[in-house]
Amino acid sequence: MKKQFSVRPIVQAFFFIFTFAVTFSKWLISSNIVVPVLSKISLHAICPFGGVVSIYTFLTTGAYVQKIHDSSMILMLIFLFVALLFGSIFCGYICPLGTLEEWLGKLGKRLFPKQFNKMIPKKIDTVLRYGRYLVLIIVVYFTAVTTKLLFQDWDPFYAFFNFFTGEVAITAFIILGLTMVLSLIIERPWCKYLCPYGAVLGIFNTFRIFQLKRNSATCIDCKKCDKVCPMNIEVSQKEVIRNHQCISCHQCTSEQNCPVSDTVEIKLIGGKNHEA
Ligand code: SF4
Ligand code: SF4
Repeated sequence: MKKQFSVRPIVQAFFFIFTFAVTFSKWLISSNIVVPVLSKISLHAICPFGGVVSIYTFLTTGAYVQKIHDSSMILMLIFLFVALLFGSIFCGYICPLGTLEEWLGKLGKRLFPKQFNKMIPKKIDTVLRYGRYLVLIIVVYFTAVTTKLLFQDWDPFYAFFNFFTGEVAITAFIILGLTMVLSLIIERPWCKYLCPYGAVLGIFNTFRIFQLKRNSATCIDCKKCDKVCPMNIEVSQKEVIRNHQCISCHQCTSEQNCPVSDTVEIKLIGGKNHEA
């Protein structure tokens, strides 16, 4: 089946450029240059994870943690609702750090075609993937205790889009550097092992309303879906993909890489998984 046109790379590029434009425009203010609209937006204001780390403080005091805005809470609620419907669309389509990892991964595939994304032994990889829940607990706990945005000093996303501002902590630069280097041999290493926001959204994959389903009656067991999955999910072994690591990139679907029509599709929860 012919691969259909995908808007995903365009959406990813748009949000990547937009995020960079926001931080660069903010920085230009220090040189008395004001970019209409963009200079008024801050990176914290457009980051939905800011809403997640603020929940405890907001519920107990009615205030946000340092630097967090109403817009972070609104974006958090919007993306939680989208995740309830379709899973981690934010990770697969919007997150600019995920996009950066993906672009580096494309280079890595060329440099290390045999080893790329296959280097970590499965047992170790499975355990490491729960690391992002540990990061989530640590970040939420220490943000609640201090009411400060401590994660900024460890956040590779903040480091990449603010590298020119002089505001980035060395720890964030080190984690960014490691993420970028590892992205050449592992697909989306930050997303898989450490991202606390991916951890939150990934939970919704287990009960999302529009699920990713494989029709085992038409599947020819070619395993192409497994090969293209950036998160190493064995799509060919499941009828409903509820994996907490799925980023809803839709690469495994029949519209993209599954060669059989109507075999991997997004379908409403419940009902028959496949036709006999
Ligand atoms: S390829 Fe499919 S299973 Fe893998 S992350 Fe993308 S949507 Fe999820
Ligand atoms: S790519 Fe499609 S046909 Fe091939 S194993 Fe996966 S679901 Fe089955």
